[in-house]
This record gives sequence, structure tokens and C-alpha cells, in this order.
Amino acid sequence: MKRTTAILIFLSPVLLFAQIRLPLEKQTPPIGTSNAEMVEYLGKITAASDVLEMEIAGKSHQQREIPVVFSPPRKQWKSENTTVMIFAQQHGNEPSGKEALLMILHEIYLNPKHYDFSKLNLIFVPMVNPDGNEVNRRRNGNRYDLNRNHVILTEPETRALHKIFHKYLPQVTLDVHEYGFRTWLKEGYIKDFGEQLDCITNPAIPETLKNFALNEILQPTIQSTRDRGVRANRYLITKGGLNDFVRHSTTDINDGRNGFGIQLTLSFILEGLNPLGKSEQIWQRAKYQQTLIENFISQCQEKSAQIKKLVDEIRRNAKKEYPDSVVIVADYTKKYSHPLEVSLKKTSDFREEKVVLPDYRPEPEKLLTVSRPNAYIIINPTQQIIELLDSHNFPFAKFDKKEKMVVEIFRITGTDTLHYESRDTIIPAGKFIRTQKEIPAGSIRIPTTNERAIQIVQIFEPQSFYGLSHYPEYRYLIKGKEFPIFREISQN
Ligand SMILES: [Zn+2]
Repeated sequence: MKRTTAILIFLSPVLLFAQIRLPLEKQTPPIGTSNAEMVEYLGKITAASDVLEMEIAGKSHQQREIPVVFSPPRKQWKSENTTVMIFAQQHGNEPSGKEALLMILHEIYLNPKHYDFSKLNLIFVPMVNPDGNEVNRRRNGNRYDLNRNHVILTEPETRALHKIFHKYLPQVTLDVHEYGFRTWLKEGYIKDFGEQLDCITNPAIPETLKNFALNEILQPTIQSTRDRGVRANRYLITKGGLNDFVRHSTTDINDGRNGFGIQLTLSFILEGLNPLGKSEQIWQRAKYQQTLIENFISQCQEKSAQIKKLVDEIRRNAKKEYPDSVVIVADYTKKYSHPLEVSLKKTSDFREEKVVLPDYRPEPEKLLTVSRPNAYIIINPTQQIIELLDSHNFPFAKFDKKEKMVVEIFRITGTDTLHYESRDTIIPAGKFIRTQKEIPAGSIRIPTTNERAIQIVQIFEPQSFYGLSHYPEYRYLIKGKEFPIFREISQN
């Protein structure tokens, strides 16, 4: 009797404690966590835990909540810690990253000492795209691909994410996705790279940051993931067959990786293999993602002091020293091409085979560099432009009265098409004319003499591969005879 009571007393807190279960655990078979299930679950575990805190970061296009979880709670954050932001499911039909983050949060809730994340301030956004999640669709409720929205920031989901970023300025970010296996199916191979991790690739991002991301975080994370028996590789992509060129992730700044990387951040993308569809093997897919993400966070924990020192120093310097010039066009050309041996599975018997990809292009070539102007001047800015500047937290000022100044105006003579990264990008043809111009009151001045310089130049230069005019919403910029964003030149 005595013994039974003792066991009951011992068990009851455990039983109470175990009442909160992962949404996926309650489903037979597990099919995936809905937005409502996730919001309810996160509300419960964060209320029950001293080391978790939840806030609603924003709402989706269709008014669904986007929760953000902090660990430890922000009051316990240490200023010497590295801040890491991990977000998942920008693409609604890639759910395993969300499930993996919920699994990690569940471990933290069950046993706060399960991981040693003592040198980190962690931010989790498990479901960036709730509208897409509910209907298993890539895009949000406004039919926008959120992972191509980090330049124009028109969508509430990406705006919410950038708001979090600007508030806490994490030194490290990780964006979690999934990929399909069909790339080389016609040629008899399954692309099973397991977990694919990539880092910042935009050529304007400082080399020290890129090298650290690759050598000190990406490579050791892949190695430690393999050591735990999970397949992992650096992210590779091709739009063609085995003989076509393969490259790493895009140099564009409109995704969740370079979008933060261009703001001087150690930014990463993770893609887990999605073998069949929405809910097939969802538990296993999430477990693989969880393994890599845990190893990723462990690398950040181990190197927290180094990361903090490096990123903060680069950001501090960028506030007072600005680049003379900025790369605005780059492509994975043949310049650095060489063969690469990879391991693929044969469709016939699933056996692994070494295959040599003849045209591996590891680095983008810098193709057009421009000198940095002091500022960009926008005549008669639309509401859309003002919202863009606000969403990016760019510094800008309005002209109270008209002013004469020396500017460079891009005279448009036609258009050119760049076929880079296997897509067509239209840029205006023409040339800059230096002239004195009267700038009307109400115009906007966006200075480049700040830590956002490289991002501002890539977004506002007329011939930039990363520029505004590639988006249908901003195509009007290249319709006239001159580009309506001028370069302000210092007058010596
Ligand atoms: Zn994706």
C-alpha cells in the first residue's frame, strides 16, 4: 500500500506533465499539424514552461496567427549571447521543418536541460505560411511565393518575419524547406542528398562572413549530422540533366537566406527530402530535419563567442565604413567549373552509385559592379515605395522644399535579357547622364552611408540583377525614358 502511494505520488506530476502532447502524436496516422493545433499547442507548452515564451508575430493574408517562440524568455536573454532565428514553412507544402521545430520545442518543454543552449538567445517561427499549410500549397493566401518576396516585402507574412529580424538583429538565421527527388529520375537516379544545407551566396556579402558560414557552421553541421546516421550534404541544384550545370543556391536577395544575409547575417537554408507528398513519412522526415537543426544549433552554441564577435564587428564597421563599389550582377558561369563526384541512388535497385557531374559551378562570377552613390533620390514616391522602405526599416528622409542637386539619371534606350541561373531577367539598357536637377518637395532621399549600403544599392540600381523592376509591381520603373530613381553624387 505504502509503495503504491509512493509510486502514485511519484507518477502524478509526470502524468500531468505528459498531458501536453505534440499535435502529431495525437494523429493516427500522423498527417501534419494545422495552424489552430499549433497555436493551441504552443500556447500550452509555453505557459507550462519557464524557459519558453510565445508571442503572436503577425497574421497571415487570411488572418491566421503566426506565433514566434523565444527560448529562453526575452527577460532572460544575455547580451553576450548569439541570437539565432529559425523559421520554417514559408512554403505551405513543405511541412516537415515546422514539425521538426515543434519536436525541438517539445524536448525543451519536457526537459529544459535536454540541450545546452545556454550561450544562445533562440527565436523560433515554425509556420511562416499558415494559409499555405492549411491547403498544402506552396504560396500564401494571396497566391504569393513568400520565398521570393524578401525584396519587395508586400506580404504580411514576410513583413512579420523582417519585423522580428529588425527588432532582435539575430547574428544567425536558418530558413527550413523541403525538396523533391525527381531531378535525375529520367536518367535513372534518385536525388537523395538527405538534408541539404546551404549558406549565403550573394557576391556583395563580405567574404569573411561567407567563409565563416561555410567552414565553421555548414561543414561541421553536415559532418555531425552524418555522424548521427542521417544523410546530409551541401545544397546543390540543377534545372537540367546529369550533364547540365549544377550550382549552389541562388545569389538573389529575395529569399529567406540572402534576404537576411545581405543585412550582414550568417544565414542558411535547409531542405529536407520530401519523398512522396504532404503527409507520407511525415514523422521520419521531421526527425531527419530535427537532427540537422539540433546539430546546427549546437554549432552556434559551441562557437557563440566567435559568431557574436565576428558579426557584431562587421555590422559595427559597416555603420562607419561604406564600400566604394557594389556588385549588382553575378552568375554561376563556367569560370570556376569543374567536375564533382556525388553519390546517387539508382532507381532500379536503390543502390548507391558514384556519379561524376561534369559541370559543377561552385562560385558565382561577378559580372557588373557599380560605384556606390551617396544616396538614391526617388521623385514622387508612391505609397508602395514608402511601405517598402518602412518594411525594410531603411533610413530615409523627405525633401520639405525643392532643391537643386547633381544627380546621375539612367536614360533608358531599351531592354536586355539576362539568362542567368536558368531564368530570364529583364534589365533596362541605356546609360547614366550626370546633370543638375531640381528635386521637387515631397521627394525621398535614401542614404547609402549606413550598414544597409549593399542591400540598398542592389535593390535600387536600375541594372541590378536583384533590383525592383523585375517584380510586376515595379515594372513601371523601366517603362519610361528615364529610371525614376536617381543617384546622388557627392559634389567636390
Ligand atoms: Zn521551399
